[in-house]
Amino acid sequence: MIDAARLAILTESAKYDVSCSSSGSSRANRKGGLGNASVGGICHSFTPDGRCISLLKILMSNDCLYDCEYCPNRVSADVKRATVTPDEVCELVINFYKRNYIEGLFLSSAVFDSPNRTMELLCETVIKLRKVYNFHGYIHLKGIPYADDVIIMRAAKFVDRMSFNVELPSEKSLRLLAPQKTKESLLNPMKKLRLAQICESENHVRKGRIIPAGQTTQMIIGASPESDGEILRLTEALYRKMGLKRVYYSSYIPVVKSARLPSCGAGLLREHRLYQADWLIRFYGFDVDEICGAGENLSPEYDPKCAWALKNMHLFPVEVNTAPLEMLLRVPGIGAKGAYRIMQARKFTALGFDNLAKMHIIIKRAKHFITCKGKFYGSESGQAVRAALAIDGRREIDEQLSMFSSSEVALSALTGEI
Ligand code: SF4
Repeated sequence: MIDAARLAILTESAKYDVSCSSSGSSRANRKGGLGNASVGGICHSFTPDGRCISLLKILMSNDCLYDCEYCPNRVSADVKRATVTPDEVCELVINFYKRNYIEGLFLSSAVFDSPNRTMELLCETVIKLRKVYNFHGYIHLKGIPYADDVIIMRAAKFVDRMSFNVELPSEKSLRLLAPQKTKESLLNPMKKLRLAQICESENHVRKGRIIPAGQTTQMIIGASPESDGEILRLTEALYRKMGLKRVYYSSYIPVVKSARLPSCGAGLLREHRLYQADWLIRFYGFDVDEICGAGENLSPEYDPKCAWALKNMHLFPVEVNTAPLEMLLRVPGIGAKGAYRIMQARKFTALGFDNLAKMHIIIKRAKHFITCKGKFYGSESGQAVRAALAIDGRREIDEQLSMFSSSEVALSALTGEI
């Protein structure tokens, strides 16, 4: 039985990993089993700083062989160490699940003993949970770089999601701050998992699929000097080549003192802007080049969609009743859901501003970029539009930490609608 002291160490050590969203897996409980993983993922709840907390998030060990400069668990750090066994993790998961504390597991580990041994123990844990403890809830497993492909592929058959962290946005930074890891050691397992997924889908395998909720990754922002443009280019390549479900950005927090690291964190606003840009790439049809130049950073003042629209005022206003979907998606204040609602509704009637308000379109932003039945209520001058949107931008800077606010800024942070 795991004791409270080790549990405290291992859950505390896991808290810096943010890649624990659970959406995308669908598996019903079986008779005599425990738990479900539903299409929408297990229920999420969020701490005030936006972290997901409904999974048991734990390390198997924080006793690491490696010495990543930014990590509180690195071998040279003077911290309390703890390790648990596969059975201890399984018992904890089942106990917590039965008490309704958690709905799934996010299991990771520092590299103790060797990469293969660590991955074997992680693999043993998830197999036991599924086969011995009959647990059908959601499991997200963090993979260990340099572990043998056979162990990784075996583990992948028993979990919903796997992730290998790319850690830092460039090879150069990896060499400097995480010298025992290489780009290949992080990307190769992702590639193999991707290949296995493609083979499955080509062979129409439905039952017993590997990682049905796909792969994710995480990178630390602000510990190294890469610009937002470089980070977004890497993100775009990871979505395209590895078929990732999500890239998570973790704003660097200076928990470790080091001459190689900045003395202050990157701030949550930068993280928030990167997530907004990420949504534009995935759901709004934007190319990374349109959002941010290679060596540039995103504007703190305007969200990336507003920033793009302000640079391209010559393309606006567009008529809501006739504009193609691709253009509606580019209007500030019209989110992806809003654009699809407009496309449906306008088949039946010509839309006015009052109709848009009922579709949750943010009229005070959108009005500068659209006409409805030929009517335009925005500002004619580019300067006035900039000033109006800058007020929203400043509110966003002030409010973006509050995930519980009912304001449109906070809702946008939760839903990705921009
Ligand atoms: S491998 Fe690096 S980042 Fe992971 S626990 Fe060890 S020192 Fe920390």
